[in-house]
Amino acid sequence: VIRLFVSGDLAAGATVAVTPEQSHYLANVMRLRSGDRLVVFNGLDGEWEASVDALGKRDARLVAGDKLRDQTTEPDVELIVALVKRPRLETIVEKATELGVRRLRPVITERTNADHTNLGRLRAIAIEAAEQCERMDVPEILEPVKLRTVLDGWDDGRRLMFCDEAGDAAPAAQALALAERAPWAILIGPEGGFSPSERTRIRALASAAPVSLGPRILRADTAAIAAMTLWQATLGDWRRA
Ligand code: SAH
Repeated sequence: VIRLFVSGDLAAGATVAVTPEQSHYLANVMRLRSGDRLVVFNGLDGEWEASVDALGKRDARLVAGDKLRDQTTEPDVELIVALVKRPRLETIVEKATELGVRRLRPVITERTNADHTNLGRLRAIAIEAAEQCERMDVPEILEPVKLRTVLDGWDDGRRLMFCDEAGDAAPAAQALALAERAPWAILIGPEGGFSPSERTRIRALASAAPVSLGPRILRADTAAIAAMTLWQATLGDWRRA
């Protein structure tokens, strides 16, 4: 079944606005016909059945039918990740979306050298992953800012799972098992790691929990997936409420 993220309001009988790209996909790639059914969601109004009312090459018209599922939100965990090279950052966006991240915050650290960011492309990857994995919303992807700015404005109500490969951090699974359910963020550094002064600054946050992901040095994308997995399994929606 085709599942599309759309931007307009959804209600029974309402016309569903789709982009020219989505129209092209429905008409020319998936070859839908008038009357065919699909599933749509917009991150606000739940998930709806929709049917094709009219289908031009670049302007499909869909009409919403029955509501299939009520809106839900993802657990309050955000991923703060250094701007690593593009393919790895794109992997992180796709996998973190599937793993239920609520927000992605790319950051510029002292040892970040990648200065690419095509937020539009990252958002498109997040949308595609959300459509595929059946989540009910698309994670927010923020403009990159300096790590220092994020730390200076830190809200102590949000715990920080600081993924620190330096060796003296507590094993992640053990640290999270003892932790409270609260809003959380996960912090992953660049390929060159955090500088000593960044580590000191991060560890000085009252809400930071430095954790180890084992004795091997992981690439940033692997570390992000491993950290999200552990968080979801211990504090997130992979466990019973
Ligand atoms: N400083 C390293 C590479 C950093 S790996 C070096 O060049 O030797 C990129 C990021 O992944 C790190 O900053 C950290 O946030 C995370 N990471 C990788 N391996 C990890 C581990 N074993 N434990 C905790 N975090 C890890």
